Amino acid sequence: NQEYVLASRPKGTPTAENFRLVESELPKLKDGQFLVRTLYVSVDPYMRGRMNDAKSYVPPFQLDEPIAGGAVGQVLESHNASFQVGDIVSGTFHWALYSVSDGRGVHKVNPALGPMTTSLGVLGMPGLTAYFGLLDIGNPKAGETVVVSGAAGAVGMTVGQIAKIYGCRVVGIAGSDEKLRILTEEMGFDAGVNYKTAPSLYKAIREACPDGVDVYFDNVGGDVTDAVLANLNDNARIPLCGQISLYNLDKMDVGPRNLSYVLIHRALIKGFIVSDYARQFSEAFPKLGEWVKSGQLKYRETVVEGFENIPNAFLGLFRGENIGKQLAKVADA
Ligand code: NDP
Repeated sequence: NQEYVLASRPKGTPTAENFRLVESELPKLKDGQFLVRTLYVSVDPYMRGRMNDAKSYVPPFQLDEPIAGGAVGQVLESHNASFQVGDIVSGTFHWALYSVSDGRGVHKVNPALGPMTTSLGVLGMPGLTAYFGLLDIGNPKAGETVVVSGAAGAVGMTVGQIAKIYGCRVVGIAGSDEKLRILTEEMGFDAGVNYKTAPSLYKAIREACPDGVDVYFDNVGGDVTDAVLANLNDNARIPLCGQISLYNLDKMDVGPRNLSYVLIHRALIKGFIVSDYARQFSEAFPKLGEWVKSGQLKYRETVVEGFENIPNAFLGLFRGENIGKQLAKVADA
């Protein structure tokens, strides 16, 4: 077998040298276990946090130990009655050609819902994150203005489209004009702001949101969030989902700097982790599935080819190379 291990902990932005490809022996299957061949690997921003030796909501990766994350694979051999040879399964697996699993946290992919890759994106963890963060914390009402940062990513593009389904005016903030074009022309966003080129982010957001901001779904933090907070309406809600602009800082930034806007506007900021909603996942899947089927919820995937390119796919997240869900394709079923 071949698998990636954590070679070193990143200082600042991670690099390919933080990962090492190693040969490993596959253990003999025990009762209850099955062997999975990796087909697609999901790379996710939260994995950056696991590269640090710091306490968080998931334990850190260990040096010289395998990297693990969301993946889809096919069962090659099984000593587990719930998983048959040939089944396509989705769950947490090593960044490896093959993984052994006992079935915990693994589910069979239902091909009726969509292509297998959607179990890692719009019909998987990112889709659920968008759904619960927006609807439970953002509580969007028809006619309100919803702003989402990281808008062209897996979570962000789903947030914006669900907000449209709820009748909101939706503004996306992202890092390229091409991304904004896709959001506005193909996904129904009302306006977009390019945070890399806008001369004044505050003004660009104010122009895109003439009635102010009622819900701000925050995926990025930093300067983008500062500029949105300055545009809040009274009683605004802020689902705090991610802070990717801060993940590669060696030293935590000081701040938040402009919380007085939260005070003045009686806004609510609430952080959440998608797994908080695990008991409600089963109610979200049919809705997400229906919206995808009806075309109200579109999705994009950026697929890098090859096992050797998994680290590059991950590093690309921090350069904004992905539109929608970033995946690496390892093998065909
Ligand atoms: P994305 O698909 O959005 O990929 C990351 C994107 O972030 C890039 O494409 C890039 O787009 C943007 N980005 C990268 N660096 C910066 C920066 N310095 N400033 C602003 N934007 C940047 O990833 P996901 O959809 O998987 O995740 C989005 C966010 O949600 C992340 O912060 C992630 O940690 C968080 N998350 C939280 C969960 C939870 O349970 N709370 C669950 C899942 C995700 P661009 O070109 O626009 O810069």
